[in-house]
This record gives sequence, structure tokens and C-alpha cells, in this order.
Amino acid sequence: MLSAQLLQAVNDQIKFEIQSAYAYLAMSAYCESANLPGCAKWLRIQWEEELEHAMKLYDMVHARGSHVTLQGIDKPASEFKGVRDVFEKVLAHEQKVTASIHNLRSLAIKESDFAVQIELDWFVKEQVEEEKNASEILALLAMAGESGPALVMLDRQLGARAAG
Ligand code: MG
Repeated sequence: MLSAQLLQAVNDQIKFEIQSAYAYLAMSAYCESANLPGCAKWLRIQWEEELEHAMKLYDMVHARGSHVTLQGIDKPASEFKGVRDVFEKVLAHEQKVTASIHNLRSLAIKESDFAVQIELDWFVKEQVEEEKNASEILALLAMAGESGPALVMLDRQLGARAAG
């Protein structure tokens, strides 16, 4: 069983991951309407990945004999100033997720819960990747601009992302 405080924090993180998924699905919908099918696909894969993150934590809680309590999620932003604004928000969001994972990892240390610590190590590494990916896309968008042939090529490149 997880301690009451740790269980609450993991339940909060499950909500955060599902909230992230929802935010990315809204961004994907925006990109679909903005004629950027590659960006839309990249964000749709991101939505699936965030749900997998939530389920990884969900399964961990139950494997430990504790119980997941799902929380309400908020309406995600659906209006953006452009594709650069979308990916700036992706990076900012991932930075918040990283901070949340680090807080959770610190709590697991405080509670001497070694199994949760080990599980969270995967998330710590995943967040390095998430921030790196968003930063790289932002750097490419800065070079490509928000319209024109370079953006079309970048959109194709992002559309080549494979699921999983
Ligand atoms: Mg995540």
C-alpha cells in the first residue's frame, strides 16, 4: 500500500497526465483546422502517450494494493495565436509536468517508498525527452517561420512521427 500522502500525490499526477493528454488533443484539433496535418498527428500521438503515462501510474497504484480515485479535469485551451504558440505551450506544460514529477519523486524518498521511486525514475528520464522534443520543434519553427514552404516541410517531418 502507498502512504495516504503519496497516494494523494500519485492520484494528482494521474489527473495531470490525463489533463496533459486533453490539452494536446485540443492542440491537435487546432492544427487540423489550421491545415497542419503533420503537427496534428504529432500532437495526437502525444495525447496517446500522456494517457499511457497516466495508466502506468494507475497500474502501479493497484499493483501496490491501493486504490485510484479519479478527479475532474478542466476544459483545455482551444484557441492559439499560431503553431509557434502551440509548441511554446507544449514546452511550458512539460516543464510544469517535470516539476510535478520531481516533487512526487522527492515525496517518495521522504516516505522511503523504494518501489515508487524506481517507477518514477522512468518518468524523470521521460521528462528530459519531452522537454528536448518540444525545444527542438520550437527551434525548427523559429527557422521555418509560421507560413511558407519551410513550414510545409516541417509539418511533413512531424507527421512522420511513429506512434509509441
Ligand atoms: Mg506525461
